[in-house]
Amino acid sequence: MTINHHPSDETLMRMAAGALGAGPALVVSVHLEGCAVCRNRIAHFEAVGGAILDEMSPAPLAADFFGRTMERLEVAQSLQTEGRATIKHPELGIELPRAMQHCEIGPWKWLGPGFKWSKVKIPGSPDEKVMLLKGRAGLHLPAHGHTGLEFMQILSGSLADERGQYFPGDLDEAGDDVDHRPVVGQESDCVCLAALEGDTRLHGLLGRLLRPIVGF
Ligand SMILES: [Zn+2]
Repeated sequence: MTINHHPSDETLMRMAAGALGAGPALVVSVHLEGCAVCRNRIAHFEAVGGAILDEMSPAPLAADFFGRTMERLEVAQSLQTEGRATIKHPELGIELPRAMQHCEIGPWKWLGPGFKWSKVKIPGSPDEKVMLLKGRAGLHLPAHGHTGLEFMQILSGSLADERGQYFPGDLDEAGDDVDHRPVVGQESDCVCLAALEGDTRLHGLLGRLLRPIVGF
């Protein structure tokens, strides 16, 4: 499997520094589970960060700061040795990445014709805006923009927008400069894991559709 879309270096650095919110960090963890390129990059950023800290006088912040990173890296490393095994989720009818095994995942709910969502709860981070989205083959999603970053990892099927095509393993990071209209590939339904960072809101029809139902 070739992965063509990766998190930005800025995102990987924030992940390495433990400075990414739990929602975006979950999406990036799922990506890391399947992407050796990004696992190596984040290990590099972590090493650089450690070297910088070594040169600084000991700060109370530092220990916990990189302690959390190490926990995350250990998770990534254990995933690396265990390969790309998935966990079955019979109720949703899909297989989920191991990085999601600690999450509480709700049932599929109707969002529009051929379009469903499922709430993903991360223990200890109830306010994170994370969801699974499922679109039927060929579905045109409403055009939308974002006030901040939207992270989306493809789990199955494919999506395309003005900027490219996204297949399983790809992570799309769309900022406030991106207005897009994703279309689900014709070959099968598409399931993806999406997170909005912080106060990010969606503009346009998708935002109006999601806000009352999802609360985002
Ligand atoms: Zn990657």
